[in-house]
Amino acid sequence: MRKTIKEILKEGDSLTGKKIDVKGWVRTRRGNKNVQFVALNDGSTIHNLQIVFDLTKFPEDELKNITTGSSIHVKGDLVASQGAGQSVEVLADELEIYGTAPADYPLQKKGHTMEFLREKAHLRPRTNTFGAILRIRHALAYAVHKFFNDKGFNYFHTPLITASDCEGAGAQFQVTTLPLQDLPKNEDGSVDYSKDFFGKMASLTVSGQLEGELGATALGLIYTFGPTFRAENSNTPRHLSEFWMIEPEMAFYEIEDNMDLAEEFIKYCVSYALEHCYDDIKFLNDHFDKDLIERLNFVVNNDFVRLGYTEGIKILEESGKNFEFPVYWGVDLASEHERYLVEEHFKKPVILTDYPKEIKAFYMKLNDDGKTVRAMDVLFPKIGEIIGGSQREEDYEKLQNRIKEMGLEGMDWYLDTRKYGTVPHSGFGLGFERLVLFVTGMQNIRDVIPFPRYPKACEY
Ligand code: ATP
Ligand code: MN
Repeated sequence: MRKTIKEILKEGDSLTGKKIDVKGWVRTRRGNKNVQFVALNDGSTIHNLQIVFDLTKFPEDELKNITTGSSIHVKGDLVASQGAGQSVEVLADELEIYGTAPADYPLQKKGHTMEFLREKAHLRPRTNTFGAILRIRHALAYAVHKFFNDKGFNYFHTPLITASDCEGAGAQFQVTTLPLQDLPKNEDGSVDYSKDFFGKMASLTVSGQLEGELGATALGLIYTFGPTFRAENSNTPRHLSEFWMIEPEMAFYEIEDNMDLAEEFIKYCVSYALEHCYDDIKFLNDHFDKDLIERLNFVVNNDFVRLGYTEGIKILEESGKNFEFPVYWGVDLASEHERYLVEEHFKKPVILTDYPKEIKAFYMKLNDDGKTVRAMDVLFPKIGEIIGGSQREEDYEKLQNRIKEMGLEGMDWYLDTRKYGTVPHSGFGLGFERLVLFVTGMQNIRDVIPFPRYPKACEY
């Protein structure tokens, strides 16, 4: 029976002496005139299985075709390995070559840079590094669903095409079927969207939150987990144009409950990865980031600091640091400020709360001081903001005033949640790739999603 390499290595001893049937891609082949060793990988684990070919059984000409990158099927006996580096190996008696890989196969044994691999994004999942990242990514996605399901949350599907703009104009990709070279116009020269597919202007979503609130104010506890699109021109190692966001929204939650949930959630996901992907994390730790495992354990085992924005600004002002962007009360913190608080001052993740209302979204609950809102951003080492959330304004009139002040239109459907049986409620958004970035210790968010989209890059 065919087994994956992960199963074979796990069952190890109990399979020795038995016939093994295994399929995969060749990582390396080495050896001499008598014996050849192939390191085989099938994507099920970071570890390779060693296949031993005896040249009295296999002609050298046939073995020459099993080059790096080729795909093969091998049957043979599993035996305890003579060599160091593996406990078991397969003594091949049958070989089938599915596909050879010519010598120009781009992924040769030498270490490639992340930039090089980004250019070969169609093949990079075949590397050890991306195999590890993609398995961790999968485990984290599963952990997200498991966490919320076990707590009684409903997975709520919010639309990807939307006519509402959650965070403010400018960062949305428009969705249209109008002919761009011959746009229908109104008398005043503006585009006549009544002729467009939906009869109005539509875009890809930048957040499912507003629609998520409709779910929470009916089902109680919901979360979304889906693609999110932002057309901001941010060429940073932390921004993608297409990313996945997780947005829980909870009726009857105040901001403290929201913070508790966010902290528990991140710790759960990180622990889940440590428990289920240890080999992959260890590989990334040993090859890229020697402090990775220590940092992950640290986050799991320590309370996050909870700090008001005003206090945070004071700490930054008194730090004596020469920041690139100036610090003053009212400023939207830059990544360097967030990272100073987390990495240098507290040396712990920080949940920063009660930001000035001017720098936050219209739906956040106004504090009694009239100046700050019940926002909460979770700030992480090496990442900066990993979560942004808040308690939502549940007062109909206050929310309506905010909407008017900001000049937003077409929000009646949203205001109705406050008009009919309003409740205190809260929620947050976690960028899934920022979580994967943290858990893998990678430097660039483009390397934790199979097909990254960013300004001027949309391959495949
Ligand atoms: P930032 O200040 O880092 O640009 P933001 O404040 O614009 O983030 P929010 O609107 O609060 O982000 O979105 C919630 C979460 O989604 C963020 O905390 C972050 O984890 C993630 N996120 C936001 N924008 C991006 C992006 N372009 N690529 C990947 N993740 C993102
Ligand atoms: Mn934010």
